[in-house]
Amino acid sequence: MSFHSGFVCILGRPNVGKSTLLNALAGEKLAIVSPKPQTTRNRIQGVIHVPAAKGKLGGQAILIDTPGVHKPDSALGRKMMVEVREALEGCDLILLIADVTEKSGAADQFVLDLAKSSGTPTFLLLNKIDRIDKAKLLPLIDQWRKLYDFKEVIPISALKRNGLDILLSDVMNTLPEGPKYFSEDHITDQPTRFMVGEIIREQILSATRQEVPYFTTVIVERFEEGEKLTRIAAAIYCERESQKGILVGTGGSMLKKIGTAARLEIENMIGTKVFLELFVKVRPGWRNSREFVEELDWRRQLENLVGPHRG
Ligand code: GDP
Ligand code: MG
Repeated sequence: MSFHSGFVCILGRPNVGKSTLLNALAGEKLAIVSPKPQTTRNRIQGVIHVPAAKGKLGGQAILIDTPGVHKPDSALGRKMMVEVREALEGCDLILLIADVTEKSGAADQFVLDLAKSSGTPTFLLLNKIDRIDKAKLLPLIDQWRKLYDFKEVIPISALKRNGLDILLSDVMNTLPEGPKYFSEDHITDQPTRFMVGEIIREQILSATRQEVPYFTTVIVERFEEGEKLTRIAAAIYCERESQKGILVGTGGSMLKKIGTAARLEIENMIGTKVFLELFVKVRPGWRNSREFVEELDWRRQLENLVGPHRG
């Protein structure tokens, strides 16, 4: 039977039950749950493996958390929302979660508008159905259906684990045929390696002025996991010597600051001591080099790390 896989974005205003749903799916099927560093790029929250069963498709759903969805009230906020939109457009499926115990308001509308404008197939998950009368559910479904042509509307209780089998089988039926991005056995270190790059990026963001991160990118060149110590070497690419100067700082102070902060976060994430080496490399015009940018493309990065073996 064919293997289906793809990237699934989870959307919803705070408190609708996103984390609870992730944990519920984690029961058996979620192979990894990465802690979430606050970066503006896509974050992988976990990979769900669904074995094929009689009459049912098997495959892999890679869950993506999108950076803080909120009404933008600053230039930076607006920039982040652009990234959210891009993330949504790059996804194969959006899971929009709403809380049936709350009146849907402006925040739900905002999230819905994001899903709409992405044009990506969207499931509406009506969560917390354990808290309301069944009789109220149908009118609610009708009400939401009028707002948008959802691919599916699925009532669930993430807490009581109701409706999750239907959800998973609908997800598999919707995702396209695709490769096994993550193998079941090598599941932990590979995404970690990817997350490490994101953590370093995050520290560059917080330590330097805004325009510098825009010109930088991080490539994890070595990742050797030992029982007590993990050795990591990463290159930070920038475009000009002047940017390198900022990144390195006086007597290496900036690089040290970035490295220390990143190391602590990485140690926190993987639970061993970390030896982190950072290099700054100048590569003029890397943002305009198609080859290089494609190399950096996060999906490709994943495939390169895991190997695009077909399932
Ligand atoms: P998030 O902010 O979207 O990640 O929401 P959380 O997963 O943290 O959930 C917010 C609150 O809603 C928590 O107190 C959960 O226990 C509760 N909750 C989530 N899902 C359900 C559900 O299906 N039923 C009920 N009764 N409570 C739920
Ligand atoms: Mg949460």
